[in-house]
Amino acid sequence: MEIPQLVAQQRLYFNTDQTRDVNKRRDALKLLRKNIRKHEKDITRALAEDLGKPAGEAYMTEIGMALANLRYFIGNVRRLAADQKATTPITLQPAKSRIVAEPYGCCLIIAPWNYPFLLALDPLIAAVAAGNCAVVKPSEMAPATSQVIATLVAETFPPEWVTVCQGGIDVSEALLQERFDYIFYTGSPRVGKIVMQHAAEHLTPVTLELGGKSPCIIDETADLDLAMRRTLFGKVINAGQTCVAPDYLLVHRSLRERLVEAFEKAFAQLLGDKPLESRHYCRIINRRHFDRLTAYLQDGKVLAGGDIRTDTLTITPTLLEIGNREASVMQEEIFGPILPVIFYEHLSEVYDYVRSHEKPLALYLFSTNSDTIGYVMHNLPFGGGCINDTLMHVATRHLPFGGIGNSGMGQYHGKWGFDTFTHPKSVVIKAQAGDFAFRYPPYSWKKLRLIKFFLR
Ligand code: NAD
Repeated sequence: MEIPQLVAQQRLYFNTDQTRDVNKRRDALKLLRKNIRKHEKDITRALAEDLGKPAGEAYMTEIGMALANLRYFIGNVRRLAADQKATTPITLQPAKSRIVAEPYGCCLIIAPWNYPFLLALDPLIAAVAAGNCAVVKPSEMAPATSQVIATLVAETFPPEWVTVCQGGIDVSEALLQERFDYIFYTGSPRVGKIVMQHAAEHLTPVTLELGGKSPCIIDETADLDLAMRRTLFGKVINAGQTCVAPDYLLVHRSLRERLVEAFEKAFAQLLGDKPLESRHYCRIINRRHFDRLTAYLQDGKVLAGGDIRTDTLTITPTLLEIGNREASVMQEEIFGPILPVIFYEHLSEVYDYVRSHEKPLALYLFSTNSDTIGYVMHNLPFGGGCINDTLMHVATRHLPFGGIGNSGMGQYHGKWGFDTFTHPKSVVIKAQAGDFAFRYPPYSWKKLRLIKFFLR
């Protein structure tokens, strides 16, 4: 079916009010869960084909996360969708006030290739729980996973409720020509701007889940072995092709000598002595990104790691000391297993450096100094992050996830996903009887006194 017809069909379906039925939403989410379980092997195989993703990692970071999200919404959608009571001020009495969770209507979800299953499914689950129709556009760079998503969705939903449009930029562009009621985009800041321009044509609200350079600070009070193990974990998962991966290190100068040793120790622990042959380590998505990443190795001195295999598109996690902060590895989001390090003397240098760059999606600090922790938490701008860990703030539905500034706008996960896909509609339900006469003209000085009293 052509894209304009498909969207028109979804709009017609939305207007039948069927997606507003909370039991129907719940049943659909249960069926989706059943179908994900049924296709678990196909999804795992597709992720291995697209990214060389190990089965354990595929479950931990994609399939299992989607299932946990489904469990949350199946258990909570009734509560989330119920009208909320609100206080009614005395001036509006006698009346009741309610907040109604209004689904937006037809939503467009555009997903990237790095977590191609989760980042298409997670927003979709929230959109359906919130009572919307949706068109999902998975990434053309992960074609096997896109196909599995299309199969899964077709087995779960009628196309007028949810459908998948596979294809490249041309398909994205064609979709963006249509009028949607909400656009949820995950990908690069560059394309995020294009999406927002299209959305502006129809004043369509957007969530932009973008990326950027996420700093990881290790101060002199940190447990260095622990810091390196947890930082490296953030770079090993998906071979660093993670939006919230620590992008670069800012390390106190006093740790310089011990840093390489700690890195190598963590490296051996996580990947063994033949990392490029490890079944537990992803490859780079394609040759273009592999070449881009290996070129970064020229931007500094390799302190540890630095092995590559062109035939399998794998690169070991690499600690890179950069001499020049203007080098390209420090200008662009790395999105791979290379970890440049900048040594600092005073924390003020770190704060200045972070503040003089785009607001990052994530920030990590390894420290036991409560003043430093407090300062970083409250004074530096970033989407979200961890103290003494990496990535973990995205692995909880109790925290909102989203960027700020160049790293995105809006948030989801847990209840925030539901809120993202609904408009909080305010309704005052007024009693027929009883009225404050002072609200009606003519406004005598006596009435005005009363108005001033209430609006003081
Ligand atoms: P991308 O922006 O190139 O592509 C994402 C999607 O946009 C794909 O479906 C693609 O088909 C579509 N697209 C690409 N060019 C387009 C255009 N000109 N017009 C319309 N649509 C277009 O991103 P990517 O390479 O797939 O992903 C990497 C980026 O995504 C990184 O910056 C990463 O940090 C970010 N990311 C962010 C999150 C997050 O949750 N914040 C998660 C994963 C990835």
